[in-house]
Amino acid sequence: MTTATDAPFRVTLLGSGMPSPDPLRFGPATLIEAGSQKILVDAGRGATIRLSQLGIPIGSIDLMLLTHFHSDHVAGLPDIWLTGWLGGKFGGRTRPMRVLGPKGTLHLTHHLEEAFGADIAIRIADEGLPPDGARIDADEFERDGVIHDRDGLRVTCFEVDHGDRVKPAFGYRFDHAGKSAVLSGDTRYCENLVAHADGVDLLVHEVAMTSPASMAIERIRRVMEHHSTPADAARVFARCTPLLAVYNHLVLISDGVNATPSVQELIDATRQEYAGAFVVGEDLMAFCP
Ligand SMILES: [Zn+2]
Ligand SMILES: [Zn+2]
Repeated sequence: MTTATDAPFRVTLLGSGMPSPDPLRFGPATLIEAGSQKILVDAGRGATIRLSQLGIPIGSIDLMLLTHFHSDHVAGLPDIWLTGWLGGKFGGRTRPMRVLGPKGTLHLTHHLEEAFGADIAIRIADEGLPPDGARIDADEFERDGVIHDRDGLRVTCFEVDHGDRVKPAFGYRFDHAGKSAVLSGDTRYCENLVAHADGVDLLVHEVAMTSPASMAIERIRRVMEHHSTPADAARVFARCTPLLAVYNHLVLISDGVNATPSVQELIDATRQEYAGAFVVGEDLMAFCP
């Protein structure tokens, strides 16, 4: 893999956390840079702040991709959209924000435009901001396939398994200049993910862990059933043999009595099943496939 500074294809974790507010691990959001294109996958809490830390204007995001509609993945969407439209070097978008996601994306974006209608009207009248920049140009898809193919970057969406009631849920594959990266989205073990990530260069995968005793608690068991355990993820890694696997969206759960699993415990549990290269992601880690 090339170094993070000179590569034309780079994947940066903006938020590696889960719904609980954590200043070290923001909500799920991943930046894909390919040539001159900047794509954001999900917009969890704090994505605008992480972009600012990277010196990337929020208004420069070319495309937003959504994996599913759990609030921790989309709570930062209005912030990306509207802060990116404001004046100043952090904003400046004059064209509509492009959003692609599964069925339900149009419902979400239409209602966001309605909910923020007063602010939009005020800023157009008061600050003279361009009306086009306050629009959302959204589309949705219902099945696996190529959803974006431009300037050497091909983006493929594929359905994943985030539990029987959490549908739709998708992951994404990015192919650029002979290199590839897959983002699992939120999923438990999923054969369709394995099929799309087979032989990929970089596999960014979610993971969830709790203590064995905590599994007796219904609320925690239900969360765990929506996600991949370290053993599940290790099985995916072993099947796909990526050059590098990265844990993202760390769902580490405590029941209040037993301790929250540590990163070391996560590593140890994975190592029992998988000998290849993997790292535990942190906010602002960048990878060049
Ligand atoms: Zn989810
Ligand atoms: Zn999630």
